[in-house]
Amino acid sequence: MPDWLALYYDDPIEITHGEGRHVWDSDGNRYLDFFGGILTTMTAHALPEVTKAVSEQAGRIIHSSTLYLNRPMVELAERIAQLSGIPDARVFFTTSGTEANDTALLLATTYRRSNTILAMRNSYHGRSFSAVGITGNRGWSPTSLSPLQTLYVHGAVRSRGPFAHLDDDAFIAACVDDLKDLLGHTRPPAALIAEPIQGVGGFTSPPDGLYAAFRDVLHERGILWIADEVQTGWGRTGDHFWGWQAHARSGPPDIVTFAKGIGNGMSIGGVVARAEIMNCLDANSISTFGGTQITMAAGLANLTYLLEHDLQGNARRVGGLLIERLRAVAAQVPAVREVRGRGLMIGVELARPGTGEADPQAASAVLEACRADGLLIGKGGGHDTSALRIAPPLTLTVAEAEEGAAILERALRSIP
Ligand code: PLP
Repeated sequence: MPDWLALYYDDPIEITHGEGRHVWDSDGNRYLDFFGGILTTMTAHALPEVTKAVSEQAGRIIHSSTLYLNRPMVELAERIAQLSGIPDARVFFTTSGTEANDTALLLATTYRRSNTILAMRNSYHGRSFSAVGITGNRGWSPTSLSPLQTLYVHGAVRSRGPFAHLDDDAFIAACVDDLKDLLGHTRPPAALIAEPIQGVGGFTSPPDGLYAAFRDVLHERGILWIADEVQTGWGRTGDHFWGWQAHARSGPPDIVTFAKGIGNGMSIGGVVARAEIMNCLDANSISTFGGTQITMAAGLANLTYLLEHDLQGNARRVGGLLIERLRAVAAQVPAVREVRGRGLMIGVELARPGTGEADPQAASAVLEACRADGLLIGKGGGHDTSALRIAPPLTLTVAEAEEGAAILERALRSIP
């Protein structure tokens, strides 16, 4: 099996069903799910409100294509446009985060008449030819042939790179200087694409305000800012509804891409942009499966639930407790180099005690130990996969956070 086929566990798990924050495998084992379908299960597994909306919609019509209007699509688009913070916003639905980013790249390169893209080091933007081509995380970018010219920018990872030793303000200033220097030596790029908190890269983030400072530099030169909110949207980070809001000083991005959590597992992706950008294409553009009734019905029910139950607030409160609890464990376990993140998007970086070298074997061992103890978590990272990723559904209770933290603590303490 090639290494890049990312199947977890020596003996892969076959999931049969789920409820709330739990899933079951084909051997009848029950797991607390701290990875929520790779951040897609935003509210809960088998949430009755979403299940009912999906089954009622299936009884009426599943799909009629974006050649025709349908009520759930229009309603969801209106709500996302309003939540986006982008003035005069338009929404285009796709079926995945990859396709959303491809669409954003298509819009930005067409609008700006440039095929140069700025992307962040260590980033991940999907697995189409364009998205993989601009992805900065080499572990996820198996081609060096890209249809776009991509230049990689410093700053998404606070603890690595040439500016890691600086304090936050000096770090931002150095990254901005570096960006200006890069822009002085290249053809004018179409856009900068960035994840506010890197997902696959191991839940790493820059100091708050970095992208606001970048935005000022970009906008002076007419370059667009694309926020890839595929992992960070919908309140997951607790403090904000969108990840970019940690950088909001100078206003919203020009384009936001989303996917994952909005459908609670249904395949919804999309792009939000001002009308002027969205309308720059002079050819027809449809996505056969984008905006299909069944996924839109799921998205509406899911979004309604997460707003009405203040799941962003729950992510802040329960995520805050979990981060505190894991930091207390980290203080006693030398193999844990850092606990980072925000809300219910928490990264635990593992390193070899003494040398400080990244330790992907330890990450795999912790994953296996957690599984044996009834907990599913994720892993990720840059050059190596040495970070644990914790991203449960946002309905996580304090008791469940405690239960998961206790399992993680046992697993971390068992690292030889
Ligand atoms: N962008 C980010 C930040 C992601 O994390 C991912 C997937 O993990 C994608 C884009 C691609 O999304 P999808 O897997 O839905 O195509």
